[in-house]
Amino acid sequence: MALIVQKYGGTSVGDVDRIKNVAARIKARCDEGHRLAVVVSARSGVTNELIARAKTIMPFPDDREMDMLLAVGEQETIALTAMALHALGVPAVSYTGGQAGIFTDKMHTKAKIKKINARPLQQDLNAGKVVIVAGFQGINDDGHITTLGRGGSDLTAIAIAAAIKADLCEIYTDVDGVYTADPRLVKDARKLAEISYDEMLELASLGSKVMQSRSVEFAKKYGVVFEVRSSFNQNPGTIVKEEVAYMEKVVVRGVALDKNQAKVVVNNLVDKPGSAAKIFKTLADANVNVDMIVQNVGRGGVANLTFTVGRDEARKAEHALKPVLAELGGGEVTVWENVAKLSVVGVGMKTHAGVAAHLFQALASHKINIEMISTSEIKISVIIDEKRGEEATRAAHTAFALDKM
Ligand code: ASP
Ligand code: MG
Repeated sequence: MALIVQKYGGTSVGDVDRIKNVAARIKARCDEGHRLAVVVSARSGVTNELIARAKTIMPFPDDREMDMLLAVGEQETIALTAMALHALGVPAVSYTGGQAGIFTDKMHTKAKIKKINARPLQQDLNAGKVVIVAGFQGINDDGHITTLGRGGSDLTAIAIAAAIKADLCEIYTDVDGVYTADPRLVKDARKLAEISYDEMLELASLGSKVMQSRSVEFAKKYGVVFEVRSSFNQNPGTIVKEEVAYMEKVVVRGVALDKNQAKVVVNNLVDKPGSAAKIFKTLADANVNVDMIVQNVGRGGVANLTFTVGRDEARKAEHALKPVLAELGGGEVTVWENVAKLSVVGVGMKTHAGVAAHLFQALASHKINIEMISTSEIKISVIIDEKRGEEATRAAHTAFALDKM
């Protein structure tokens, strides 16, 4: 008999029929003799709808009131899920985040969990009830409702699994698990049986949006092993944990393509101490997240600087930089929105040489030009023409034999 945390995302509880399907799955586990704490999201689209409604009143609504509003989405689902279980004869009780003892700081709309008082949950679990917890929300020390940032139900599930020392944590979503590449782009992409936290983090931040990154970081920190799997079938999913068997034998475990990229080029920047500091301070103040940065060797007193940002922030970056360049004594800024970032990820890279060369060769054989390169211990990323992105993904996938995993 195990203590299991399950989390069902928005598509898994998208309407009443799907909620009934989730209740049936929960009942099946109860019938096997397990105890269950279940975290649910708002029905898919509900959170977006609530945000949109608030914005018809004013563009920047008060954060505390936003949390009051957004918490409604999950509150609907916990009650309906509990009722669906009652209809099947399963004792179940719903909990808001606050009732589940999830205490956060005061940062409305992006609160951090400070502690969890799991005693009330535990009492109900011990009494043989299924507890249904609203994801994405908590309460601060003053008793106000907070939310944990978009996608925060994942974090609720991982945090509860840590707090009640669950034997298993299952994250149910609309995909079967984590794949070697996006199966929509690469038809022979393979589902990974296991992946390490670090690889998952790189892939999550790279746009294979299976899970909220913060929740993976949290799982790593507290050693919560979890499984990502689908609520629409019975297939085994992907287990995410610290160490993965044969980790170092597999050099590359996944390929990701991120099209939400733009390249910003600053030409003829005055080559003097403080120029880069000024530019990136300006971008930070404008809340623009910079990813890769390349600066050429200065010549004739000027240098060229290139960096990448999220595509939706490129114009904001350009706008912020123009006055600063004038102040610095010259330079032109140009935005290129037709780029994509291709990355290969694998913990095995730490101990293998030649991975970058192998990737570059694969791209070269397809005559795909590399515009920028960046590397970390477990990742190599290149910026390429967006039009070649999908072809490049397939080429890298084949080059690293990921179809044979
Ligand atoms: N409902 C929230 C959102 O859409 C939280 C979640 O789904 O995890 O961001
Ligand atoms: Mg979600």
